[in-house]
Order: sequence, then C-alpha cells, then structure tokens
Amino acid sequence: RIVDAGADNDDERVVEAALRPKRLSEFPGQTRVRDQLGLVLEAARRRGTVPDHILLSGPPGLGKTTLALIVAAELERPIRVTSGPAIQHAGDLAAVLSSLDEGEVLFLDEIHRMSRAAEEMLYLAMEDFRVDVIVGKGPGATAIPLELPPFTVVGATTRSGLLPAPLRDRFGFTGHLDYYDASDLTTILRRSAGLLGVEADEPGITEISGRSRGTPRIANRLLRRVRDWAQVHGSGAVDEDAAHAALRLFDVDDAGLDRLDRAVLDALCRRFGGGPVGLSTLAIAVGEESDTVETVAEPYLVREGFMVRTPRGRAASAKAWRHLGLTPPRDVVA
Ligand code: ATP
Repeated sequence: RIVDAGADNDDERVVEAALRPKRLSEFPGQTRVRDQLGLVLEAARRRGTVPDHILLSGPPGLGKTTLALIVAAELERPIRVTSGPAIQHAGDLAAVLSSLDEGEVLFLDEIHRMSRAAEEMLYLAMEDFRVDVIVGKGPGATAIPLELPPFTVVGATTRSGLLPAPLRDRFGFTGHLDYYDASDLTTILRRSAGLLGVEADEPGITEISGRSRGTPRIANRLLRRVRDWAQVHGSGAVDEDAAHAALRLFDVDDAGLDRLDRAVLDALCRRFGGGPVGLSTLAIAVGEESDTVETVAEPYLVREGFMVRTPRGRAASAKAWRHLGLTPPRDVVA
C-alpha cells in the first residue's frame, strides 16, 4: 500500500507510517541507542551473520516500532510483524517461527504480553534456532524438533520489568528509549511538517515541541491538530497563535499535560489528599485501566516531578498541587 502523509489522508496509522524515518541516519534523537544499534547491525553485516536479538523498551510513542522497521531496512531483510497479545498459544508462535526465512526480522510488539508457554518456546527458538512441535495429546504426545533458519527477534516492550529473566537474557542488545528533548522534537516536527506539506514557523514548532510530553507520536498528532486549526481559522500556516489556540481547544496545558494526566493529578490531590494511593484505586478513580495509567500517564508525571512513587503507592508532589492551582499541604511528600 502506498502511504501518503498529505492532507487528504488523516487515518492515524497511515499518517504515522508515512512519518516514520526509514533509516538510522534519518532518525533524530536517542543518540546512544541509535549509535549502539548502528554498531550491532554494521558488525553483523560485515561478518555476514544475523545480528543478536534486540530488545527495545520505553514508554509508548517513542519509536520502538520505527526502530524495528529500521533494523530490517538496514539489514535489507524482510520483517514479520506480530505482537504478544496475538500470540496466546505456543502453537501460534510455532506457526510464525516455522515460516520464517533465513535472516528475517521478527518484530514482537508488546512482548511482555505473550503467554508463558509461548515465552518458553520463544527463548528456546532464540537460543538454538529450533522449536519442538508437539504432536498428539496426553501421555502419547511426542515432541518433534524442527530446525529454524537463523533470524533476529526485535522485541518491544513498555514494561521490560515484566519480562522473565530467561527471556530477557536471550537478547544480546537492549536499548532503552527515553523521552526526547525539545531540540530533537523540534527536528522531528520540522521534518513532519515538510512531509505533511504544511508551512510551519519556528515559534509555532517550538510551542508544539514544548507541549508534546517528550514523545514524537504526540508531537506529530498535535502538529496535525494545529494544522487543522490553522487551515480553518488561521492563515493556513502553523504559527504561535495557531499553536496556542489549537492546544487550548484540545486540552493540552502549558506543561504538555493532557486530560488523563490532569485527571490523575486531580484525583490524587482532591480525592486522596495527595496520596499515597494504590495504582488500581487511582485508575478506578479516573476511569482507566491500571496499565494505561502506569504506562501512559505515570512515567511522564514522575519524570517531570508531578508524581512520586512511594512504597505505599502514588503521591502528588508540591508541583502537582501548584499546577492545579491548589496549595500543597505542609506534609507533602516532595
Ligand atoms: P508503541 O509502544 O505505542 O507501539 P512505539 O514506541 O513503537 O509506540 P512508534 O510507533 O515507533 O512508537 O512511533 C510513533 C510515531 O512517532 C510514528 O509516527 C513515528 O513516525 C514517530 N516517531 C517516533 N520516533 C521518531 C523519531 N525519532 N523521529 C521521527 N519520528 C518518530
């Protein structure tokens, strides 16, 4: 399918795909991971072997899928894409593994959500390039070993702590992606504006990058909303006025916090007196899954000093109280 980032195609996934950098050299930010990955791939290429298995971890929207696609592109190999939730039975994984071609890249998104049986099969396959296909049931069942051609697993996870040690140990390289700084986001936004065919000035781009929670996916999404505002109410160009107005309309505040972030802080301060409160109680209070609060909202809130994780649960910092226009209590945690 030909993907078009132009104004006539606003399907999130299609636009995301079109905005992905295609090679390591076009990938802004994450310098350390990029350099390490570049070395691993180049060394494998020179040796004429498949590279070690690669694990990419970090919060959503920072470029794990993009890097997985880049790995295949740099190796000039095909890539097979699947995800943990899609592999619930060992048989599902056996079917994928047994159809891989030599040197193929197998991208396993949300690898921490695979079933235990599939995990066990995967780490044997990663180590020995072999799967045992079980034929029959009960006492008569037999395991028929099936040799696999060498391949590379690229696993992505927002929760590397949930991966069992034997699986984690099979990855020869682990890259942890961190939030982007404003200057990398500015580079990403300039590039995306160019691909979308939108005129954007520096103040407009700076305003969006400062409110993107350090996350390219959010930066690109906000850029498209500011573009919408500019096309309907403004000059058509992304500038500071358009950015201010659109971000206000879409509930993104000066700190880049969105509705969920503020709901979490609001519940913490107003309902639970600043905490500490358990994750599941907090998630119920904001009407979200615990996993969403933990992987989407919490990492950024903690990193920016709005929330503190304590052994007894999550607590609001003085900064959080002030951000909501409230006076922090005297015994506030931080
Ligand atoms: P998830 O955990 O939700 O699957 P992810 O970490 O795999 O997220 P991607 O899907 O790779 O994130 O990236 C999301 C969007 O952000 C894509 O449109 C991609 O183009 C853009 N993006 C991510 N990293 C970069 C980057 N370094 N430069 C330019 N764009 C980027």
